[in-house]
Amino acid sequence: MRIQVSTSIKLAANQGEKKSIRVGDLLIGGEKVVVIAGPCSVESREQIIEVARSVKESGAQMLRGGAFKSRTLPYSFQGLGIEGLKMLAEAREETGLPVVTEVVSPKTVGIVEEYADILQIGARSMQNYPLLRRIGAARKPVLLKRGFSSTIEEWLSSAEYILAGGNDDVILCERGIRTYQNLTRFTLDLSAVPILNEVSRLPVVVDPSHGTGVRSLVSPMAKAAVAAGADGLLIEVHPRPEEAKSDGDQSLRPEEFQELMRIIKPVAQAVGRSM
Ligand code: PEP
Ligand code: MN
Repeated sequence: MRIQVSTSIKLAANQGEKKSIRVGDLLIGGEKVVVIAGPCSVESREQIIEVARSVKESGAQMLRGGAFKSRTLPYSFQGLGIEGLKMLAEAREETGLPVVTEVVSPKTVGIVEEYADILQIGARSMQNYPLLRRIGAARKPVLLKRGFSSTIEEWLSSAEYILAGGNDDVILCERGIRTYQNLTRFTLDLSAVPILNEVSRLPVVVDPSHGTGVRSLVSPMAKAAVAAGADGLLIEVHPRPEEAKSDGDQSLRPEEFQELMRIIKPVAQAVGRSM
């Protein structure tokens, strides 16, 4: 039996050949598994440069960090905004790592696009249709996170908005969904990886940091994601997680990230990929 998605999903559907997306010298959806790492939030110039240097040394190919954050509570740290974007650009200049950062509003797509190499649409924004339409007109690749209460078809329908708007460079990011299981923050739906590889042409990245919310689970689930056929990983790393302004509990320390990079390499090789 083959998995069938709605025939209304057209542009995101599997058309026989898998899409790969070029970002500078990198190819997402190619033979190499791409690792995107960095803090949940950009907190200071020193912090983002320190993380960028350390994840680069461990072998990450891209830097992440939120400047515009979408937080569940209005009282939580909302990000440094444009100042944060400038710090990310500085970190890119220092390390050569392309930058992935979130965009939360159609109004700020223009400015985020000036600084970012990949625009991230957060889980909470997956069905923000005005934002998806605006992103369809953007000229940068997009990392579209799965809404945590969304089906795979709803997720692909959101990708369809961006593709139909004229931006063909969409990467899907599985970041965990809500289930009744309550020992982890979310339940990482790793079956989404082989399902998407069957029904969609778009590259798939897995985020085991948000998907578990628990530092000790990040590395095992990263291994499982690569084994399941993910094209990349999104990993939160912070030099001092206990001081992080967001998501410290799920952030790896630099040495833990270095160890993760070491142990996923043979997993990638075992499934015919390299790192
Ligand atoms: C993030 O990447 O820090 C983030 C907020 O992710 P999500 O939208 O998946 O919750
Ligand atoms: Mn986060």
